[in-house]
Amino acid sequence: MLYDVIVVGLGPGGATAAYELASRGFNVLAFDKENFPRYKPCGGCLSLKVEKILPVDFKHVVEDTAYGAVFTFKSKRPLPILSQRPVGYNVSRSRFDNLLKEKAKEAGVCIRTGERALGVEEEKDCVRVKTSAGTYGAKVLIGADGANSIIAREVLGLKPSRCAVALEAELPLNGERLAALKGRLLIDFGCIPHGYAWVFPKDKSISAGIAGVSQKVKGRIKECFRDFVSREEALAGLDIKNVHGWTIPYYYNAGQRIAKGRILAVGDAARLVDPFLGEGIYYAIRSGQIAAAIIAERIRRDDAPDMTSYHEVVAAELYPDLNAAAKLGRLVYNFPRLWYNMLESEPSLMESYYDVVRGDNRYEGFYSDLMARIKARPWRLLTRWLKKGVQRV
Ligand SMILES: Cc1cc2nc3c(=O)[nH]c(=O)nc-3n(C[C@H](O)[C@H](O)[C@H](O)COP(=O)(O)OP(=O)(O)OC[C@H]3O[C@@H](n4cnc5c(N)ncnc54)[C@H](O)[C@@H]3O)c2cc1C
Repeated sequence: MLYDVIVVGLGPGGATAAYELASRGFNVLAFDKENFPRYKPCGGCLSLKVEKILPVDFKHVVEDTAYGAVFTFKSKRPLPILSQRPVGYNVSRSRFDNLLKEKAKEAGVCIRTGERALGVEEEKDCVRVKTSAGTYGAKVLIGADGANSIIAREVLGLKPSRCAVALEAELPLNGERLAALKGRLLIDFGCIPHGYAWVFPKDKSISAGIAGVSQKVKGRIKECFRDFVSREEALAGLDIKNVHGWTIPYYYNAGQRIAKGRILAVGDAARLVDPFLGEGIYYAIRSGQIAAAIIAERIRRDDAPDMTSYHEVVAAELYPDLNAAAKLGRLVYNFPRLWYNMLESEPSLMESYYDVVRGDNRYEGFYSDLMARIKARPWRLLTRWLKKGVQRV
């Protein structure tokens, strides 16, 4: 049997693409190597942008609503910048991803879990996928198999040469300690080269983690996490176990193409992670939607659908923001202390950033605002920076 579309991987990117295609009447097979619900190392913070695009009601799996963040520098100088309106929703990825998978199933997707894709071959009239249980054919293949995507690597030639490394643990917590953390994200700068650490509250637990650019961290991530845990008051006395390591394939513009012939990649497989924040769920969902729309149009029009236009549409819609996020990331992570001092002296800057996370402002707009503020007050900032710089923090 020849399917219209095969989706490899049922994270947010794959489940969304599968759901959208089945809802349009296409014959879709989707599989994942894991059995669901499955754990995925992740902070699990959905930006408000997700709510704007996801056609699925997910509010019943939201475990906490964040109205902003408490920023720290090396776990000191706590700076709460909270807003009247939410900036994000914290979910447990096992529940959220399972919800999206179930929605895809209800829409008519044929779902196979516990089945791993082993290889892909493009033939003249179809794509064949070999899995741990069999071989299947389809007109089009979506690689939604995450950070270590075999489809991105082996078929599209996307090299995972640059990525961030991350450690994350879900720690049970309750009572007053958890209540004190709710409603806000905790974000610590200066604890790891080119990255940050976080504590995100959930229903009966917290996600504690750290991430930084691999080339800068140079194998010291465990040490950085240990130092963060030992300094961070919110984690004092907790038994930090089940720490998971993972990679984050953040976006960088290396001219790589995320589609070829009948095959395309979405989400982490396409390296669509915000290089400043590490946000990937929104981009996985949005690229899954773009992929579904293009595939639907191409399959209806054409016997030999060509997916190359998917790359152009993603580049036009998502790359401008990701490029601006990369510029912001270079500025902030090269000068984390200056960034932190700026936040202290101009907390309204973060309000402007929250609008980016809400989808009410573009990254480029925020970056221009930031540069204008730096140019308007270079001496004030520099003096403050030098003053704070000589203090031990
Ligand atoms: C520590 C950490 C913290 C993060 N925190 C956040 C956050 O707070 N907010 C945010 O927006 N983003 C965050 N991210 C990024 C986010 O987790 C990813 O961007 C997002 O999960 C990407 O979704 P996806 O569908 O592309 O891939 P995934 O969610 O990784 O899903 C890929 C799926 O493919 C399956 N798969 C893999 N290989 C195969 C195979 N060969 N055959 C079959 N199935 C396969 C996997 O089992 C998995 O289910 C974080 C990432 C990390 C590592």
